Amino acid sequence: MSAVAEISNALLEEILHQVRPLTRQGKVADYIPALAQVEPDALGIAVLTHDGALYQAGDANERFSIQSISKVLSLTLAQTRYQEQEIWQRVGKEPSGQPFNSLVQLELERGKPRNPFINAGALVICDMLETRLTAPRQRMLEVVRQLCGEPSINYDRHVARSEFDHSARNAAIAWLMKSFGNFENDVPTVLQTYFHYCALSMSCVELARCFFYLANQGRPLGDAPSMLTVRQTRQVNALLITSGMYDGAGEFAWRVGMPAKSGVGGGIIAVIPGKMTIAVWSPGLDASGNSLAGTAALELFSERLGCSIF
Ligand code: GLN
Repeated sequence: MSAVAEISNALLEEILHQVRPLTRQGKVADYIPALAQVEPDALGIAVLTHDGALYQAGDANERFSIQSISKVLSLTLAQTRYQEQEIWQRVGKEPSGQPFNSLVQLELERGKPRNPFINAGALVICDMLETRLTAPRQRMLEVVRQLCGEPSINYDRHVARSEFDHSARNAAIAWLMKSFGNFENDVPTVLQTYFHYCALSMSCVELARCFFYLANQGRPLGDAPSMLTVRQTRQVNALLITSGMYDGAGEFAWRVGMPAKSGVGGGIIAVIPGKMTIAVWSPGLDASGNSLAGTAALELFSERLGCSIF
């Protein structure tokens, strides 16, 4: 536990100071027009340790669009509603090695997405939630608000609308899966749910709290009931290592060494099982769609504290 003892707000400030020059080297996502309006200089980090201590620096309390980070939450919700084999017969567990919104493997693999953290996989998971939940958007809000202890968390409806207006690629993915029989519900309805999940607006501090259950064997912060079993939590963290950073997962494991999930809003959440959750945010992205300065901040954090899980 020595790594935990060395964390301080001053250390986080120093890490942000070192990576700040990189914020301008990344490219803010603009294929969803509402995301292009984000301030590219934003930079924040929050760390929540196993004993509930919170550390933060920079814009750690500013909310942003969590985008694909929500794919972890939708999988978690599905795990609470479906048997293990029901999920994994519809979506795989292998890294894709392809961009997050790619269609090529879907055609070759007869509509079964490689994993739940690429767009195709998350769309199948949202389709499953549509089948078993009466109000999937409302249910997600309830879960996230409870995990964070923050009732004001909501969807950014402007972002959700903007993505729906530019949804050709995600719609193509969903329709292709439907053509193979791996999609049960109305495509536009599921797309709307998926875009709302992506448009959840949260800060680094809220994200660090939200994903605490992944560092704590399925148990959230405080005395809320377990989100996942120990087995399910281990499975999610394994998938995060292999697929959470898309075609950058290998490089990320090499440099940072933590289960993690990124979003094109520039956020990344990282988990050190048994020890802590870390959330970073910087909107400029690298070629894989992962936050450039955010990855560098996690790399420095990992090196300084010697806390790569490898
Ligand atoms: N909403 C985005 C999309 O579907 C999410 C992608 C991401 O964050 N990588 O394209």
